Amino acid sequence: MMRIEELEVFRIGMPLKAPFRSALGEERIVETIFLRLRWGGVEGWGEVTPQARPSYSPEWAAGVFRVIRDCLGPLLAGRPIGSGQDIQSMLSGVRGNYFAKAAIDIAWWDAYARSRGEPAWKVLGGSEPEAMVGADIPLQADTDALVEAVGQAVDEGYRRLKLKVTREAPERQLAAVRAAFPDIVIHVDCNGAFSLDDLPRIRALDHFDLAMLEQPLAFDDLVDHAALQKHLDVGICLDESITSAARARKAIEIGACRWINIKAGRVGGVTEALAIHGLCEKAGMPVWIGSMLESNLGQAVSLALATLPNVQYGSDIFPHGTFYATDICEPEMRLSGPSSMRAGDDPGFGWQPDISMLRAHLIERASVSMKSEGWAS
Ligand SMILES: [Mg+2]
Repeated sequence: MMRIEELEVFRIGMPLKAPFRSALGEERIVETIFLRLRWGGVEGWGEVTPQARPSYSPEWAAGVFRVIRDCLGPLLAGRPIGSGQDIQSMLSGVRGNYFAKAAIDIAWWDAYARSRGEPAWKVLGGSEPEAMVGADIPLQADTDALVEAVGQAVDEGYRRLKLKVTREAPERQLAAVRAAFPDIVIHVDCNGAFSLDDLPRIRALDHFDLAMLEQPLAFDDLVDHAALQKHLDVGICLDESITSAARARKAIEIGACRWINIKAGRVGGVTEALAIHGLCEKAGMPVWIGSMLESNLGQAVSLALATLPNVQYGSDIFPHGTFYATDICEPEMRLSGPSSMRAGDDPGFGWQPDISMLRAHLIERASVSMKSEGWAS
């Protein structure tokens, strides 16, 4: 049992190569949170990417930065930590704030794996280092541009594609994509754009042989998804709605989905991601790993999670140059083969920031004192 000796949090703005559009709006600069801690004399890094505005979830980067600095960090000061579960218990007095908790939890797992001299994917229970990955196609200007973007991803060797859609005419776009690429594995991500009033429109999506339908209804819903699933052949995949293992259990119990997309940031960290993975495995529900457009540091965490045995679909992990012109962390992410990536043998998650890049993109930084204990409620 060792204490956190240092804790430092960074809010970073990462300019995208091109605006990323989804049903949630348009991002040009992705705001991300880096967290560095020292535990047992070993350094660990974590990243969570809640975005600049609270549009994907109620959290946002500026808020996450403050919650870590003012609430969560002080709760850990001076306290012995031996596991991710210890961290979760110590932070349990703060409700919600999953991304903020995840930044600390992920950095601790990195330090823990480094302290053992082992790659994180092995420490987490990965079955083999190779993981399936897929392409994520944001909203395009028109249907021709979408078909072209899909063609480019297919040419690059991707074997599964995820398309972002809105309520506006997804059937027409999917018909064009299917006409051009009848056999490719495709699913669509609605980011909560529909309601049950849209049932005929959602059922129309059932005609395109989709691998799954991701988060069709509201970000915090389970019950309506269970009602919707009864009307669909395609399986629903929940993303935004699953913020904890407890929520995953309820979703499974009421039949709200057939897949879960796990994101360490969204669920409070690697500790809870592992709990959700295990719960789904027991229930016979497959999972895959999603993305918040993290830098390659956060993507390295996704890659380690993607090696777990119940990950049965290509995960959203992207090679160097996909969304960002320059990488903020080292080394570069690279495909190891068509639609696949390989987790390495370096201790921990295996990635760390290039400090000059970190400085160049810094919005704000804070050190949290680990000497005094407590946060007065
Ligand atoms: Mg999603």
